[in-house]
Amino acid sequence: MRICRFDANRLGVVDAHGGIVTDVTAAAAALPPLAWPAPHGDHAIRHLATLREAIDGARPRAERIAIDRVRLLSPVANPSKVIAAPLNYAKHTDEVGAQVEIHANTHPTTFEGHRTPIDKLGLFLKSSTSVAGPGEGVRLAHPDRRTDHEVELAVVIGAEAREVPEAHALDIVAGYCIGLDMTVRGTEDRSLRKSPDSYTVLGPWLVTAEEIDDPGALALSISVGDELRQRSTTASLTVGLSELIALASRWYTLHPGDVVLTGTPDGVAPVAPGDVMTARVDGIGEMQVRVAA
Ligand code: MN
Repeated sequence: MRICRFDANRLGVVDAHGGIVTDVTAAAAALPPLAWPAPHGDHAIRHLATLREAIDGARPRAERIAIDRVRLLSPVANPSKVIAAPLNYAKHTDEVGAQVEIHANTHPTTFEGHRTPIDKLGLFLKSSTSVAGPGEGVRLAHPDRRTDHEVELAVVIGAEAREVPEAHALDIVAGYCIGLDMTVRGTEDRSLRKSPDSYTVLGPWLVTAEEIDDPGALALSISVGDELRQRSTTASLTVGLSELIALASRWYTLHPGDVVLTGTPDGVAPVAPGDVMTARVDGIGEMQVRVAA
C-alpha cells in the first residue's frame, strides 16, 4: 500500500502508477484518541494495521484526485527522531576525502583501523522539525552558504524496539520512502547543518514494507533540472539496512515513525533558489522538490 498525506493533513492512498490519490481521510477516524502525554513517535504509523484496514474500507467510496492536483506532505507526520548514516557509499566517502575544503570535518583519514566509516563515526540525528514533504519544498536556511542535496533511501520504523538482532531488523520496518538529507556545508556539527526546517524531505508517499522485495537492491537517483547529479543503488551501501537498524537500536529505543536515512551516494552538489530536484527510488516512485530562498 502507498500511503500519503496531502493538502491540509488529508490522508491518501496512491495507485500503483503514482498518478491517482484516493482521499481516505475518513479512515483516520479509526485511530484511537491520543492521550497526554503522547507516546514518542507517529500515531498513524503506530496503528498502521488498524489504519490500513480502515483505508481498505473507505477506499471504494472515496474521491479520486490526480496526483498533480495535490500538495504532498511528509508521509510521516511526527517522527520522534531522524537517524542518519554518514559516509555509507564508498564513492561518496572518496569524494569527501578529495574535497576536504568542502567537507571540512569528515576527513576519511580518521577512519584508519576501522572496517567502515560508520565504525568510527557512528550515526547521527537530525531534528524532527526538519521534516517536510515534497510539496512544501526546501527553503534555504542560509542562502549565502552552500546547501547540497543528498538523495537517500529512507526507512520508516513500524514498532517500538531496542537491541534488535540484525536477522530480525527488517521485521520492524513499516515501509520506505525517498529521503533528501539537505546539508549546509561548513564547519559546524552535522546535527546543526542538516536540521533547518525543510532539510529532511520525505516522500512522495510511504510504500509499505511488503511491497518492496529487496530494499537492499533499489536504484536511486536525483537530478537538478535536466542534470543527473547522483545515481547508485542501495546494493552499494557500505553498511546495509539490517545492520544500520540493529546498530541504531543499540543506541536508541526506536519508535513507530522513526526514520533511518541510509546514506547518500557520490555526486552531492549545491542547489540554488529556483532549482527543481527530481528524486527517484525504484519501487517507490519519483518526487519533485522546489528550492526557494
Ligand atoms: Mn546523508
